[in-house]
Parts: sequence; structure tokens; C-alpha cells
Amino acid sequence: MRIANHDGRLVVVAPEPPAPSAGGGETPPLRAVDVETTSNGLFGSDPQAIYERWAEFRGWAESVDFGRAEPVPERSLRAAVPRPRQVFAIGLNYRDHAAESGFEIPAEPVVFTKYVSSFTGPFGDITLSPGDVDWEVELVAVVGARARGVGESAGWDYVAGLTVGQDISDRTVQFAAALPQFGLGKSFPGFSPVGPVLVTPDELPDRDDVELGCEVNGVSVQKGRTADLVFPVPTLIAKLSAIVELLPGDVIFTGTPDGVGHGRDPRRYLHAGDVLTSWITGIGTMKHRFVAA
Ligand code: ZN
Repeated sequence: MRIANHDGRLVVVAPEPPAPSAGGGETPPLRAVDVETTSNGLFGSDPQAIYERWAEFRGWAESVDFGRAEPVPERSLRAAVPRPRQVFAIGLNYRDHAAESGFEIPAEPVVFTKYVSSFTGPFGDITLSPGDVDWEVELVAVVGARARGVGESAGWDYVAGLTVGQDISDRTVQFAAALPQFGLGKSFPGFSPVGPVLVTPDELPDRDDVELGCEVNGVSVQKGRTADLVFPVPTLIAKLSAIVELLPGDVIFTGTPDGVGHGRDPRRYLHAGDVLTSWITGIGTMKHRFVAA
């Protein structure tokens, strides 16, 4: 099942083949049905609230008739998960990215947050912050049930779905203080786009090995596979839920593969007019243009 946020309303996306993602091709318009209307009010329109009733909703969604599905233009898509109560992000979670950042492969997950006011949709403009602004394409996992003390083998049972995320990072802010300020440097308005859809893990040929990447102005800068994650999704659910109670609708930015601008020689950052295309095979593509403040 695939769901999306159509102008603030929850929709179920008709099961069409996913967009060709590698190469930054155009995403064909989605077709979808409105959840509140189609369910006669059984489920509400809020794309964030649905995770509280995820199992019930999934059962209902299996019976949806897509005969009256309507096109959803890109410009009407909003953040697939717009207001999570808790946002977890993982640093240095791919071996090659840890190396390019000058760090050892971590023995425990490096965890920080992105403040939720930085969330935005999968298409549109993002205003540059004053510092050096960088890209980080990431697989984002969305929690589908309360989780506390979950074992690794059960980790996937607590994941409602997966979406594409960008962990846009102002490296100047990130490294300005005595210790790295991940949370602040990665939370300017618009620095956490998520979308275009949320895909349940069963839709993917292999939920533990999906390809992701991003392009700047059509030139590939990152390409990786989640099979290379140091701490894969079920391990993150186990490690996080050992400490924090995970809540329905929480999100986990699982980390970025190598190829960030800060790790390049010479370093390369985003400038006004740059277009960033971010994709995950089987999920979809986001596209953003950066504009001056
Ligand atoms: Zn990141």
C-alpha cells in the first residue's frame, strides 16, 4: 500500500508501477482516493493521525476501489509524515560515509533529532540558510505502533512504512560550537523534506536492500544501498526502543551514504538555483530548488 499527503488530506495511492527513479526522471502524476471521503468518515483526513490506527487502517485500505482515483499533481503533495512527535536521525550509518567524514565506523548508533518545524513536502523551493548547505539523501522509516524494548527480530513489525527523506545540513552551524550541533544545523525551515509517498515495506522486493541516491542539477552525487547500513532499520528500532518509547507516526532518518558535499575535494555546497533530486527505487522521487533568503 502507498499513501500520500494531498494538500493536507490523507490519500491512498493507486497501485501503479513506481516511478523510474535512478537518473532523476520525472515522476508520473499519482492517482489516489481520499481516505475520509472513501471511508465515509471511518478514518479522518489527517495524514499524521492515521498511525494511531495503523493496523485497522491497513485492513480497510485493502478493500479500496481505485475506480474513482483522481490525479494528484506534484505541487499538491505535502510531507508524507507532516508532524511526528519524535524525530530520530542517525549519523555515520554507512561505512563509506563515516570514512569520508573522517570517523571510525560507530559501535553504537549516533542519534540526534531534526526539529519538526523543518519538515516540508517532496517538491518546491527550499530557502538557503547563511552557511554551507549540504545534501544527505536518506531512507526514512515511520513507526506504526508504540514500541518499547522491541527485539531486533521484531523490529520491522513496528514500521508502518518507508519514504524518501533529505537531511539538509548547514555545515557551518553544525560545526560552529564546541561539540557538533546536528539538531540545529539540520533544522532550518524546509531542511527536512519527506515524500512523495509512504510505501509499506511489503511493496518492496527486499525491504533490507533498497537503492537510494540524489543528483544536483542532474549530476549524480550520492548512490547507495540500505544493505550497507551499519545499523539496519530493525536494529535501530531495537536500539532506540530500548531507551525511548517510540510513538505511532515517529520517524527515523536512517543515515546517508557517501557523496555529501562536505566530504568532497574540493567541497561542494548548494547555491541559489541548484536543483536537488532525491530518489529511492520502489518509493519515488523528490525534487527541490534552492533559493536565496
Ligand atoms: Zn543525515
